[in-house]
Order: sequence, then C-alpha cells, then structure tokens
Amino acid sequence: MMMKTALLATALATGVVASSAGQTPSGWRAHDLTRPRPPVVVPGQAAAPVPPPSDAVVLFDGSGVGAWRSRNGGPAGWIVRDGAMEAVPGAGYVYTRRGFGDVQLHVEWVAPTPTQGEGQDRGNSGVFLMGEYELQVLDSYGNDTYPDGQAGAAYGQYPPLVNASLPPGTWQSYDIVFRRPRFDSAGALLAPARMTAFQNGVLIQDNVTLWGPTEWLQADRYVADSGRGPIALQDHGNPVRYRNIWVRELPEGPPLVAPPPPAAVPVPASVLDAMVGRYQDGDGMVLVINRAGAGLEVVLPGGRRQALIPISPTEFAFGSTAATLTVAAGAGGRPVRLTFRMGATVFDLERRP
Ligand code: MG
Repeated sequence: MMMKTALLATALATGVVASSAGQTPSGWRAHDLTRPRPPVVVPGQAAAPVPPPSDAVVLFDGSGVGAWRSRNGGPAGWIVRDGAMEAVPGAGYVYTRRGFGDVQLHVEWVAPTPTQGEGQDRGNSGVFLMGEYELQVLDSYGNDTYPDGQAGAAYGQYPPLVNASLPPGTWQSYDIVFRRPRFDSAGALLAPARMTAFQNGVLIQDNVTLWGPTEWLQADRYVADSGRGPIALQDHGNPVRYRNIWVRELPEGPPLVAPPPPAAVPVPASVLDAMVGRYQDGDGMVLVINRAGAGLEVVLPGGRRQALIPISPTEFAFGSTAATLTVAAGAGGRPVRLTFRMGATVFDLERRP
C-alpha cells in the first residue's frame, strides 16, 4: 500500500501517468480481469427515495428534463416516464445545464429488466462529475466484469470496496462526495480530484484520489479546467433509468482562520504560587490548580488538565479551550474565589482547604 501511495504521489507530482510503463498509478493495469472481485455485501436498506435537503439544487424530480441538455446544447434526448428519466440508446449523454465543482450528489437509478447482455453490456450507464470523472453505473448483480468497471467503480481506476448491488429492476442509490481538482494559474495541478461514494448506504469509495479523468483503455492526464463542469449521465446503449437527482454545492473558499490565542502577560511567580489550591462550588464542581513548569495548570473533573495562560494579573485563559478563570483576592491579596467561564456557563468557586 505504501508503495502504491508513493507511486501515485510521484505520478501526480510529476504529472506523469505511467502509461508508458504499462501501468496505472495504482499498479494495476486498467480493466484487469485478474484483479480480485470486491466482496458482495447485501445492503441493509432499500433505496427508498431520499428527498432533497433544503439547500439542494434539484436536477430531476420526475417532472421533466429541463435541467439537462444534450452534448451540443440542445434539449436532452432522454425520455421521462413514470417519474423517471430513461437513457435512450443513441440519444447520447445528458449534461446538466449548470456547472458544478465540489458537490454532494444524490442519484437513484435502476438497471433494466429483463436483463440483456453481459459484462459491460448489461445496464451500463454512468454518473460523471464535471463531465470527466465517472462513477460507473452497471447491473453488477451476478454479472461479472473487470472490477474497475463494475457498478460503483471510479471507472478504470478504483473498483468499489464492495459489491453492494441490488437486483436489476430494483431502485438503487448513489451518494457521492466529489472534490474537484485544483490547478494553479499556469494550469499546473495543485491537488487531484477526490471521490467518496455510498451505494445503497454502503461505502464503496473512500476518499479516493483520482489520477485524471476516467477513461476507457487509457490513463488520461489532468487538464486544467475552469473549476466547474456539468454533471453528466451516460448513454451506453442500455435503457437505465434515473430519478430523484439532487446536488448540494460544497463550500470551496479557504477555511476560516481562527484568531491567535490570547497573549500571555508576565505574572510574578509569587502570584502564581498564591493561586495553587482547590476551588469548589456548592454543586460539586471542583478545580485544582497546580504549578506546572514555570506556569500553572488546572485539573478539571475527570482528571482533564489544561495549561493556564495569564492574560492579565487576575485572569487566566485555558490552553486549548475557550474558557477563563477570573481570580478574586481576599484580605491580604490571597485568591479566595474563582469565576470559571466556559461558553455561556459560569461557575463561582471558593477556595477550600
Ligand atoms: Mg458507464
């Protein structure tokens, strides 16, 4: 595994896909029939329709294919019947009119009955992210094919972890998390695309790193894109049907940067020494303050410990939690009470012997 990971990292870093060596970055040749078959897992849930959450963009709700187009931009050539959109052999792929980048995508699909064909010719379709990265749709219920091309494969790259297929004629679900590839302004790859997927509630792709667009018979390199692309459904000559398709766009901005921690102020050792002790309220909250190194630590119920950072002569911040202790001194300047604030909760503690 280490070797494969290192090989993939090297291939991605150099932009070299090892096609000349007769290998993909995984070490397996694409579409290798000797590759072990993913174990069969019987899903524990039926693919009941999963309604879209409030922030989803609904791509198909059974009423029409207006959100979709053909390759050349014309109307989508698939038919709608009984609340499902159905691939029409020869009509071509359908593409969302809108482009998407990072998404959570929900798709329900059903392979046709009676079954026709074998291997890649039985219930073949596919869900493409950004029009380039295919999560394979295939009738893989008792239908053998090369593992990197069965249902739930990141086509030609990663077989599904397990075969969680339901029989043809039974609705199935895919829930996909896709992170698009990132490129710098010169078009060099910064980060490859990643995909996680569930089939009928069973994990089939676990944050896999794609090494380029998924492709039949070859390993393609990344080509810089605009950051958006259509979701596409494949016409592979089989009348696969889809319903209840929705997508949530995932935040792509930089993560929120936390403010710096409170700055420590110098406090004389005598003040720290005077803090040492046990403090308690009437409800059983007990804090013990000890010297720790050159500073102080507080021991919380259950033995949890936090460094205390002096942020003023009378106020201490916890090292890694947004909590503070405020000290009230009695006669002679010795601390006799603590106010412990954490979130909206306040404890008033008194020194105990
Ligand atoms: Mg396909």
